[in-house]
Amino acid sequence: MSRFAHWRQAVVGWIYPPQCGGCEVPLSSPRQLEKPFLCEDCEDKLVPIPEGYCPVCGQSYDTPVGMTFRCGNCGDRELAFDFSVSGYRSTGEARQMMHAYKYGKQLHLSRLMGQLMQRVWNDTRLHEVDSWLVVPVPLHPKRQRGRGFNQSHEIAREFIRNAPPGMDLKLEPLLKRTRHTVRQAQLDRRERLGNLRGAFGIRKKLSEEFVSRHGVLIVDDVMTTGTTVSECAGILRSAGDGVSAEWSRIVGLSVLRG
Ligand SMILES: [Zn+2]
Ligand SMILES: [Zn+2]
Repeated sequence: MSRFAHWRQAVVGWIYPPQCGGCEVPLSSPRQLEKPFLCEDCEDKLVPIPEGYCPVCGQSYDTPVGMTFRCGNCGDRELAFDFSVSGYRSTGEARQMMHAYKYGKQLHLSRLMGQLMQRVWNDTRLHEVDSWLVVPVPLHPKRQRGRGFNQSHEIAREFIRNAPPGMDLKLEPLLKRTRHTVRQAQLDRRERLGNLRGAFGIRKKLSEEFVSRHGVLIVDDVMTTGTTVSECAGILRSAGDGVSAEWSRIVGLSVLRG
């Protein structure tokens, strides 16, 4: 850990006494350094996305996906991203922690969320691209004012900070909300698929050369059907200043999978 990281750790520890984001038990300094804001008991209760998840949308099933597999989530849909990967299932403790983080103004839990998402590096496809832009799913300004922060942006920042050495990652908030929408979590599957049409836009046009040199990682806190990330990917596909501009990959990442 760098001197800066130690210093930052000390300041954060002073402002927020290190305690578990799940059960609020106090954490020892070594534990806090190793896994910020997560006790061993709560860590044991997290359910990692098992091997054999859908190679397109990242949905996991109790039996691993095989050769003749047709995914119940994405088999009949066109998704604009190449593939998606998540860290943990959105169950029990994980879900509670995410809820406390987003709706309880517990900004310091961004570090924990960014670290939990490191699990996605187990997917070898993420190591096939040299240079990634990390693009958070934007919140509508009105919602961001209410919440105090955009969780996807904070998670993306912490994700980059903790990434494996040698990974070329750059935070690039390329997207904006153009329309206020009902929260996806409040809708059923059919409603979710239509709710976000035209809800996102691009902040700036990008050169063809810039686009072709990068892959994009779109970061969301929780993915369920993949609709949000797919809408974002669709906007990014037409972001190049020229018809033939193509990103080397567009990938969705999330901490949790609903
Ligand atoms: Zn705990
Ligand atoms: Zn799928």
